[in-house]
Amino acid sequence: MRKEIQEIFEKIAIPQSALGCNDGSEWFANGNLYNSYTPVDNSLIGSVKGGNSTDYERCIQKAQGAFLEWRLVPAPQRGEVVRQYGNLLRKHKDALGRLVSWEMGKSLQEGWGEVQEMIDICDFAVGLSRQLHGFTMHSERPEHRMYEQYHPLGVVGIISAFNFPVAVWSWNAALALICGNTLIWKPSEKVPFCAIACQILLQETLQNFNYPKAISTLIVGDAAIGELMSSDPRVALVSATGSTRMGKEVAQKVAARLGKSLLELGGNNAIIVTPNADIKMTVIGTVFGAVGTCGQRCTSTRRLIVHDSIFDQVAEALAKAYQQIRIGNPLLTENHVGPLIDAQAVEQYENTLSVATQQGAQWIVEGGRLENAESPFYVKPAIAKISADAEIVQHETFAPILYMIPYSGEVEHAIAIQNNVPQGLSSAIMTLNMREAEKFLSHAGSDCGIANVNIGTSGAEIGGAFGGEKETGGGRESGSDSWKAYMRRQTNTLNYGANLPLAQGIKFDL
Ligand code: NAD
Repeated sequence: MRKEIQEIFEKIAIPQSALGCNDGSEWFANGNLYNSYTPVDNSLIGSVKGGNSTDYERCIQKAQGAFLEWRLVPAPQRGEVVRQYGNLLRKHKDALGRLVSWEMGKSLQEGWGEVQEMIDICDFAVGLSRQLHGFTMHSERPEHRMYEQYHPLGVVGIISAFNFPVAVWSWNAALALICGNTLIWKPSEKVPFCAIACQILLQETLQNFNYPKAISTLIVGDAAIGELMSSDPRVALVSATGSTRMGKEVAQKVAARLGKSLLELGGNNAIIVTPNADIKMTVIGTVFGAVGTCGQRCTSTRRLIVHDSIFDQVAEALAKAYQQIRIGNPLLTENHVGPLIDAQAVEQYENTLSVATQQGAQWIVEGGRLENAESPFYVKPAIAKISADAEIVQHETFAPILYMIPYSGEVEHAIAIQNNVPQGLSSAIMTLNMREAEKFLSHAGSDCGIANVNIGTSGAEIGGAFGGEKETGGGRESGSDSWKAYMRRQTNTLNYGANLPLAQGIKFDL
């Protein structure tokens, strides 16, 4: 293990050969072994033993037991646990951010940024723990009171993707916990140490309280554990983040038992650039969106739909900007782009380059593997001019490939192209023209869960509800009233009179 990683492990007290299951009190595991290699230099970080179905059973039973007590703790007191967890994250922001960078391969700034998002969602959840309110309504019957209240669901299962190894869990965990639920988390098997670190810090926080420690349980494992969770009626809500392929499998299993799911799946995000765009802002927003995290964000910019009158100007400006991009070790602050996650991701990237070429792509910036890199997973961000009709444009390739698609005529044409894909996560328009901007935001505009004006597609704030439509899954997480997904709504009617009138004027005289 590299010295830098060793230091992180010591700071958070992570064992190098770790057991990947935790029931709140003990570490155990009887399943497959996962070796975690950093894509930064392809060296071994360490090994984690994952869980099997018996380990899963242990976690779920503990989480269920903890729920019976946790649901009775007043919400603001549950918020106090989340507040203290946020404070501990502040203390460990540097180490945890570095671990994210090493294990996932994103830049150190982004690794720290993920931990900052965790801190922010904790703050948000603490405030929310005093605002879990329902409406009151006027009853049609005299001397009756009607209102609705929100109750916790039970055990919330969290399945997370490799590209946000800590933040996405925390979005779910902070809200689910203040709502009175307990957790079982199955992280991506590609980044198990990040998950172990989060669980260690949460367990440390819980030492300050007399609550059941199993409010949060962890099981490292692959799709088989995710499938157990999806089929299990004891998991009241399955919140799954990952590919659309995975989401379809999870959704069907959960629906078969009429359970609840919250799906955060793939994106195919576009920026529309009209003749009224500020080109400088367009270039900044596009480059960050397309190459940041090496194109491995669900909100990465994959399509740039540019008016034909300014197409060449934008292409030239982008090609120039791409020359400035430094690819290399993401822990060095001078680099903008780190590696892809693994060999399979590189293969998909290369495959997409050749399929796009077959489908008529003209390369404005050529892609390919980076030679003499620290690991085989570094690739060059690429830009292709391609027709909106090319089939490849319909797919999300989790890599830094940007399709530039020309449009002509009015902004409606660009909006039609932008909406004509199966996914519906993030979208943006670059324009200084108010009519174009408002059309893009109107009912006839973008069909995505996120629609921005003069901002790129990636980099959402936790205060807003996050998620997308169509094959992105329809779920909403994080800010606004997303907390309602983690609770069940109950309508209550109270009669404080001496008679029992029925609703709708029905008479039932005895
Ligand atoms: P993935 O679908 O391969 O894996 C995601 C998680 O699902 C992992 O924990 C994996 O073990 C688990 N899983 C896989 N098959 C499963 C099954 N049949 N049943 C239950 N669980 C299963 O995705 P990935 O490669 O880790 O992440 C990249 C994908 O995630 C991209 O498509 C990206 O757009 C998406 N993503 C979406 C969001 C969002 O908020 N919309 C956020 C991050 C990532």
